[in-house]
Amino acid sequence: MKVIDRLNLAAEEKKTLFSFELLPPVRGKSIQSLFDAIDPLMEFKPAFVDVTYHREEYVYKELQNGLFEKSIQRHRPGTVAVCAAIMHKYNVDTVPHIICGGFSKEETENILIELNFLGIENILALRGDAAKGEASFTPHPEGYAYASELVEQVTKMNEGEFKYADETGFKGGFSIGVAAYPEKHMDASNLDSDIDFLKKKVDLGADYIVTQMFFDNQKYFDFVERCRTAGITVPIIPGIKPLTTKKQLTLLPSIFKLDFPQELFTEAQKCKNNKEVRELGIEWGIQQSKELIKYGVPGMHFYSMGRSTSVKDIAEAIF
Ligand code: FAD
Repeated sequence: MKVIDRLNLAAEEKKTLFSFELLPPVRGKSIQSLFDAIDPLMEFKPAFVDVTYHREEYVYKELQNGLFEKSIQRHRPGTVAVCAAIMHKYNVDTVPHIICGGFSKEETENILIELNFLGIENILALRGDAAKGEASFTPHPEGYAYASELVEQVTKMNEGEFKYADETGFKGGFSIGVAAYPEKHMDASNLDSDIDFLKKKVDLGADYIVTQMFFDNQKYFDFVERCRTAGITVPIIPGIKPLTTKKQLTLLPSIFKLDFPQELFTEAQKCKNNKEVRELGIEWGIQQSKELIKYGVPGMHFYSMGRSTSVKDIAEAIF
């Protein structure tokens, strides 16, 4: 079932959807670790499960003559296959993330045809981050610079317009989700322009939005208000990441350019070990989730990062 149909149904029934995001296993590792992370969360009947996509990394092998040979490796391969495996094992809808970075338009079209063939009806369309070692995002020469262009390609395919392949066998369209940043995307000059570009993604066919993680609900409430004022009417699902280690207090702001509320930061600093941080993270996550549900969010989307224990504890308290 399409995510947008689930969201519309949940809105009619005044329900809040539960969903979570996983990373594909590292190359060479078993998919079992992923199943172990999913098992404890199935009792909360996830509406969908997202699986991230990871662009290639360059590997340099030293040759005899002192030169280097550059080759490409995927550190976490198999998003499409992992989605299909989860869907068939758990009978749950999966949402593969599709990124612009590292892909030509033709390769993207092929991935989408493959997804359709597998019966996967949803995607989250993203630009992707800069490749390791690159200062800023460089588009594939035959690919896209922005997620909005990817959204446009998927919408055109949904309408039957194919550029490279024979469309025979394409069974219908995708529900398209896109990303948004209540605390502004790191490359954006300001929040208003970021919201204008978000609106462009929606105008080109995105039918729902998932936000970057945030720890201060007011940031989300203000963001939703600004989006509505800008004319964005689609559901905006909050993304929640439970704090689990002290290191994340510096790591998460540096990677995602977000702020920790002073209260959470101070309490986490006082924790004697990561067990205490984890307990604090769960308590914060429960309070955050309760307030968001009271506000009327369409769903609660959790960044599990492959570890489900904190998400399970929060889900137990709110669903
Ligand atoms: P875009 O919407 O293209 O925006 C990127 C930047 O460009 C923004 O600053 C925006 O304001 C600006 N911009 C947009 N359009 C224009 C324009 N026409 N002209 C000028 N500026 C413009 N990354 C992965 O690699 N794999 C994943 O699986 C993944 N999953 C994610 C899931 C979620 C829910 C979120 C929030 C992020 C995820 N990311 C993932 C990270 C994401 O790829 C990065 O944040 C990336 O830097 C931006 O992606 P985007 O789709 O938001 O880009």
